[in-house]
Amino acid sequence: MKIAVIGSGPAGVSASLELAKNNKVVLVEKEERLGGTCVLYGCIPSKAMLHPIHLASELEKLGKNITFDLGELRKLGQDASYRLSKGVEYMLEDNGVEVIHGIASLRSGQLIVNNETIQVDYVVLATGTYREVVKGIIYSEDLPYLNKDFKSVIIVGGDVGGVEFGWMLRKLGKEVVLVDKQSSLLPYLDKEVSNAITNYFSKIGVRLYLNRSVKEMKEKEVILENGEKLTADVVYMTFGRKPSIQGFEEINHNPFVIVDEYLRTSLSNVFAAGDIIGTHTAHEAMYAGKIAATNIMGGKKVFNKQGIPKVVYTHPTIAYVGSMEGKCVKINLVELGRAITEKEIDGFLKLCIKDDKIVGAQAFMKDAEEVISLISFLIRYNIKVNEIKDYVAPHPSYIEALTELLNRL
Ligand SMILES: Cc1cc2nc3c(=O)[nH]c(=O)nc-3n(C[C@H](O)[C@H](O)[C@H](O)COP(=O)(O)OP(=O)(O)OC[C@H]3O[C@@H](n4cnc5c(N)ncnc54)[C@H](O)[C@@H]3O)c2cc1C
Repeated sequence: MKIAVIGSGPAGVSASLELAKNNKVVLVEKEERLGGTCVLYGCIPSKAMLHPIHLASELEKLGKNITFDLGELRKLGQDASYRLSKGVEYMLEDNGVEVIHGIASLRSGQLIVNNETIQVDYVVLATGTYREVVKGIIYSEDLPYLNKDFKSVIIVGGDVGGVEFGWMLRKLGKEVVLVDKQSSLLPYLDKEVSNAITNYFSKIGVRLYLNRSVKEMKEKEVILENGEKLTADVVYMTFGRKPSIQGFEEINHNPFVIVDEYLRTSLSNVFAAGDIIGTHTAHEAMYAGKIAATNIMGGKKVFNKQGIPKVVYTHPTIAYVGSMEGKCVKINLVELGRAITEKEIDGFLKLCIKDDKIVGAQAFMKDAEEVISLISFLIRYNIKVNEIKDYVAPHPSYIEALTELLNRL
């Protein structure tokens, strides 16, 4: 078969590699560099920029102060992005995927690239999301490439992007004002977790304007609904990405592309994967890409959304999975040997159990993503609590937060 994959983000790349095992694959990408939002503007540059601040935060606990400036972090972000983008290029080449640079669209079910029709058996739509450009406003995606430094910043939006970069910029010594219309940061989390994160942000000196709606945003000014004016060197916006549906409107969408559990769209030869169907993380996008590819090749794999972990890369790190229902128990890090050895005693893990299964967990602690990943595994594989009673965690480790809680049940 010949299959076209549209988009070189995590979903498109993972679909291409899976399909290329047995098929001719053409990947169409409109940007010059490969890797999509994750590699060019998102996960990779942002995590490279956050890493030194994590190290500095750990050393701070030991009484040592090291400092970084935005320029140094930006360089790290760009280097990581360029390196990974090249890696994606080589990986696709090594696996025999043909890459075409151009804008793809569908007209009456026909795939058009650079004004030419391409005959294929199937299409995987993995076009992700895009950002509308508003003059003078900086977005999360701009930060690694921004050429000017600033002393003060107003961050609009207290979701993942606002929390990650708000934390980083505050730790860099910037005056940070964070505005959000919700009454706490990450309000969809368990109240106790969301409140702990909100209090932590106040404690480190982020000025929170919660319960406030933004009426107008300018280059250095934000006007709130109540008429209050906030000013800073830059205004930085962290939400509002939209699905990249342009050229593919003939596929049912609202606003994301509508798919069934096998990731089939309303057109019989078009599957869709990644943020275009409403996933919000790179790992979900990659998983979706693989499911779409498997099903094109005759498989019958369901896209299983249960128990996929989410991480916010602050320090302490925020990670969560599943739903917080049933019986919930909590352990504070101050009770954990490893946390005491590293002076990382701020934070906790909260775990919920129903019908002898872990259904959800949220952590605000060092190594939260490792602990939550293990819990995600247990949830996704439907493993019962009494089946893991013999699991032995290394000592001292942060995983012991989980085993300690299970012992207490
Ligand atoms: C600042 C930021 C930080 C993030 N951090 C993380 C993180 O730490 N961890 C995490 O898991 N996720 C993170 N994300 C989210 C993650 O980047 C996305 O979930 C992921 O990139 C989605 O992958 P995708 O393949 O669906 O789409 P995308 O990565 O958006 O890729 C879509 C690709 O399709 C191309 N395209 C679009 N339309 C066309 C067309 N018509 N023709 C040809 N090509 C087209 C685009 O140019 C793009 O390259 C972050 C996002 C942002 C903005």
